[in-house]
Amino acid sequence: MISNPQELDCIIIGAGAAGLTAATYLARFRRQFITIDAGQSRLLSIPTSHNYPGYPAGIHGHDILDRMRSQMVHYGKSVVADKVRRLEKRPDGSFIASGEHGEWHARTVILATGVVDVPPDFPDVQDAIARGCLRYCPICDGYEAIGKKAAVIGKGKGGLGEAIFVRHFAAEVTLLSLTEALDLSEEDRQRLAHASVRVIHEPVSSMRLREEGMIEVQLRDGGQERFEVVYAALGTRVNSELARSLGAACAPNGELRVDEHQQTSVDGLYAVGDVVAGLNQITVAMGHAAIAATAVHNRLRERD
Ligand SMILES: Cc1cc2nc3c(=O)[nH]c(=O)nc-3n(C[C@H](O)[C@H](O)[C@H](O)COP(=O)(O)OP(=O)(O)OC[C@H]3O[C@@H](n4cnc5c(N)ncnc54)[C@H](O)[C@@H]3O)c2cc1C
Repeated sequence: MISNPQELDCIIIGAGAAGLTAATYLARFRRQFITIDAGQSRLLSIPTSHNYPGYPAGIHGHDILDRMRSQMVHYGKSVVADKVRRLEKRPDGSFIASGEHGEWHARTVILATGVVDVPPDFPDVQDAIARGCLRYCPICDGYEAIGKKAAVIGKGKGGLGEAIFVRHFAAEVTLLSLTEALDLSEEDRQRLAHASVRVIHEPVSSMRLREEGMIEVQLRDGGQERFEVVYAALGTRVNSELARSLGAACAPNGELRVDEHQQTSVDGLYAVGDVVAGLNQITVAMGHAAIAATAVHNRLRERD
């Protein structure tokens, strides 16, 4: 028995940058839809974004979220707080999404569930992110690292490419490894030397945020280093399980593959934002959502 038996035009799962953009478009297309969200948007971790267009002085991530939510409210729509646990496809091609508090039935689904950053395991992580000392995305905020003393921490040599990227901005960059001693090939060494990236082969044992806004890194051999900015290059966990349970095609890391209308390999299931293979940026997520919502509207228009 479906607890919300009305067949909707669309279920949007996830209400971050991508899901809320899709919601605004679908509201303005006068579609019947619901937006369900588990409340963990990466926008909430952004201290200040300086590359989000239209805000020359920057804007806090939670302000972007608040503004987008109010735009939905303006069209009489709201976000249902829930986590979708199961997504099923019926023989007639429609979908049922089941959360902890309800079940919804719709002709299409837009999946906007994003990714979760893998943090280094130290107690002050949230505080360090809020203060801009621990970062995840040099494309977003490498500019703010100009002239600083930075480090990139990966697993083994996983942070190598990012360290070279960050060196374009920071005055000094050190490559660190969290789990194991760095084992570099001759080619790796040459690339790092060419970019003037310093390498510490000894693995990191712990990290702490110091009061003066520096991150102090302890090495397993007892050594100690301090950095103004540390980029974590430990990867992400992609929230694509719901699509994969329906057989949607994805990259080896779980990011979904989509066509030019943002449709996955499952008919009627669209995916937008960070959960899709590609560049994880707010503007990209919004662009995906505009394309998917318009494709959903056109598809339903032809079948209404
Ligand atoms: C520290 C930091 C700084 C950043 N700075 C910038 C920047 O300056 N510029 C920039 O362009 N980008 C920046 N980014 C990246 C940006 O935040 C993301 O690209 C953007 O938020 C992606 O939007 P999204 O909608 O795909 O995912 P999100 O905004 O993460 O939203 C996904 C939503 O889906 C929900 N969800 C997941 N699974 C379920 C489920 N099963 N049921 C219901 N809901 C679910 C989540 O709880 C979440 O609310 C930054 C990211 C971080 C972490």
